[in-house]
Amino acid sequence: MPELPEVETIVRGLARTVTGRRIAEVRVETPRSVVNDLPGDFTELLRDEAIAEVRRRAKFIVMPLASGRTLTVHLRMTGRLIVERAPAEDPYARVRLRFRDGGWLRFSDMRKFGRMRLTANGQWAAGLGDEPLELSFTPRRLANLLAGRRGPIKSLLLDQRVVAGVGNIYACEALFQAGIHPARRAGSLSRVRVERLHSALIRVLEEAIAKGGTSVEHYVDAEGLEGGFQNNLAVYGREGLSCLRCHAPVKRVTIGQRGTFYCPRCQR
Ligand SMILES: [Zn+2]
Repeated sequence: MPELPEVETIVRGLARTVTGRRIAEVRVETPRSVVNDLPGDFTELLRDEAIAEVRRRAKFIVMPLASGRTLTVHLRMTGRLIVERAPAEDPYARVRLRFRDGGWLRFSDMRKFGRMRLTANGQWAAGLGDEPLELSFTPRRLANLLAGRRGPIKSLLLDQRVVAGVGNIYACEALFQAGIHPARRAGSLSRVRVERLHSALIRVLEEAIAKGGTSVEHYVDAEGLEGGFQNNLAVYGREGLSCLRCHAPVKRVTIGQRGTFYCPRCQR
């Protein structure tokens, strides 16, 4: 699933290419891929709208429209948003937007879990946790979020109500960089270790954004290009391979029903 760095990479690509463009035509190929919170027809409401801005909130791609409405996209497992000159052949195309000045935006999604949603206001984002790359997300803030929590730190990092945008890959990588065992009880971490985790999380996310994200499954950016951070993964997907730091074999365990990779020697 695309996580914060992948969604951020897509958002930056879209911001460059679709900001200010007006929609001339909307083709919904798969009705269940679309959600409309407003009275009226999705296709009709979106026609003649202009995309005022493209930004990210958690793993959502958020496109405020000229009318004040908002179009959001959540890619879930296999969703893609591709900007193209002409509509490409694609059996997984769910929605296609044609711009008035030519060019298309294609929402493609093999597994059909992703959603394109037209909504009136920011209600869709209710309950989302802190953005880890915002300045307000300080070590002290993270310590407050973890205080008293009995669950494993790995699961807390994945909880979108606590820290938004972090998924399995970056939770594993940040915990490795911080030397923290993924099953450790979140509320039991010392102040120093919380600070280490805070800086590891930000560093991993920023490095991944700089590399254009991680392509381990289906992820490509808005131009259809793969990211490069998969070559920088220290533990994720490396079960049985030697730890880059100490050469012990990387282990895989299941925590909160998610495959979790860690080094049993480096992470305590
Ligand atoms: Zn190690």
